[in-house]
Amino acid sequence: MIAGVGEALLPVLTPASTNPANEIAKRLTGRDYMSWSALSTFRTCPLKYKFRYIDGLPEESVSSALVFGTGIHTAVEQHYQAILSGDPKPDLDALMFAYRSAWLPHDPDAIQFGSTETRASLDALAARMLTAFLASPAASVQGRVLGVEEEIRGMLVEGVPDLYGRVDLLTEDSDTLVVTDIKTSRGKWSQEQVEDSGEQLLLYSHLASEISPGKKLTTRFLVLTKTKEPQIEEHVREVNPVAVKRTLAGVERVWRAIESGVFYPAPSVMACSGCGYREACRAWMG
Ligand code: SF4
Repeated sequence: MIAGVGEALLPVLTPASTNPANEIAKRLTGRDYMSWSALSTFRTCPLKYKFRYIDGLPEESVSSALVFGTGIHTAVEQHYQAILSGDPKPDLDALMFAYRSAWLPHDPDAIQFGSTETRASLDALAARMLTAFLASPAASVQGRVLGVEEEIRGMLVEGVPDLYGRVDLLTEDSDTLVVTDIKTSRGKWSQEQVEDSGEQLLLYSHLASEISPGKKLTTRFLVLTKTKEPQIEEHVREVNPVAVKRTLAGVERVWRAIESGVFYPAPSVMACSGCGYREACRAWMG
């Protein structure tokens, strides 16, 4: 049920061609799989999903939070990549270089900054966050790094296209396999936020369970806060099979809706403020 397409760490157990739903996905979206990002976009706003994944519309703008988060992600992954490769760990300058690379593909005029933000203020924040990360226990790995940005793919539910994604960090010790997702956040996470954000990791851990059969499966959020004094939080959870089952049921329902062409706007302050399809949305008439 799982296929690793990165450095062949993960064996190909279910070739994509054996899942008939992949063909339907390819016809609809041009991709023979579903990503968590696509699933999550549909759940946030089905019309936004349609614009992005069915119509392939380019976004009118991109939020600074998205670019900033990608930059921090890239920097932290570079740190773990050095551990995986046995190279010297990059210093703050090297991590900042990686962070800045995330801004390069974007037209500066198309980036939506918050009212109190500038590119310089975000760069200064990134330096504080990465300094805090390097000084935190999270900069060291318990056990062994198996993969960084490791590609993972497999069938989750009969009749639903394969899930394809990248695991930020995959580690193991003598009895536990840990699937880590790296996040940036405006503030410290509550327990509810940890619970509510866990579905992506539950699905990835479900696929990754075949890497080390018999090992305990654990999900872990590594959260870097964007506060004045950044905090580095680790939220570790043992995988609950009941929660996995519920998440799989949700994935199936989302796919059935996509397959049936159920697309409608779901406006909300949170979703619409950072949406890159505001003009297309206003022009949509059903
Ligand atoms: S503006 Fe809001 S309702 Fe419209 S597509 Fe974007 S998220 Fe959906």
